[in-house]
Amino acid sequence: MTQLTDEEHVYLTAASQGDVPIVRQSLEDDPDPSLNINCVDYMGRSALHLAVDSESIETVELLLEKLSFDCIEEALRYAISKGNTKVVRAIVEHPSYIAGGVDQERARRSQRDPFFRTDEKSQFSPDITPLILAAHYNNHELIQLFLSRGHTIDRPHPISCQCADCVTKQNYDSLKRSRSRLNAYRALASPAYMALSSTDPIMTTFELRQEMKKLAQVEKEFKVGDISLAFQCRCVHYCTLSTGEINVMHKHSNKPLLLYD
Ligand SMILES: [Zn+2]
Repeated sequence: MTQLTDEEHVYLTAASQGDVPIVRQSLEDDPDPSLNINCVDYMGRSALHLAVDSESIETVELLLEKLSFDCIEEALRYAISKGNTKVVRAIVEHPSYIAGGVDQERARRSQRDPFFRTDEKSQFSPDITPLILAAHYNNHELIQLFLSRGHTIDRPHPISCQCADCVTKQNYDSLKRSRSRLNAYRALASPAYMALSSTDPIMTTFELRQEMKKLAQVEKEFKVGDISLAFQCRCVHYCTLSTGEINVMHKHSNKPLLLYD
């Protein structure tokens, strides 16, 4: 990591304090050889990331105008992890994010799946999309926000799938493939995601649970996370069960309800 210049120190500190005049001044000076506006501190935090913590929407919006899409994406995921809905909205509704998202999508389709990205600076693995992250936190409002903007979570292919995509990923990095599958399943099992995205949350929970049980037998990595998945699946039952639905569930399972393990 390169050493920060004095100007960069001042700029990052101002962003972390939501100091609008200084941040504006720094951005107006760009390009300045002693100030890289996309610079990060020793913990890898950009000005935008620090501004998320300051909760100053004005600072966030100023930075959104100028910073790289990578910085914006990272700050967005950080804001989701903090459950900061106001900032998340400010980012996703900003023209820079919308334009960058379109470009990213084009790049993704034309060349590389985020799975293959190696982004050591990021605290989030590249397969963790904003919607997956919101689902990991079971954040109802944010899940709804991303669903309404057309985001989706793809169901992982079966573990033994031999399609070109799965074979390439398996050969490239089997552990990474396992992790990204686990990330997707953890998100799919979010009670809020299920309630908002499925027309039949009870049936979806049941199917998902069966799928995850099979997975735990073949994929060692999976067993670690399976406990919390089982817990989340139970949660959705507690939230949604009615007498009529219990009867429906009994048609599909011989086991007593809520007793999975
Ligand atoms: Zn496949």
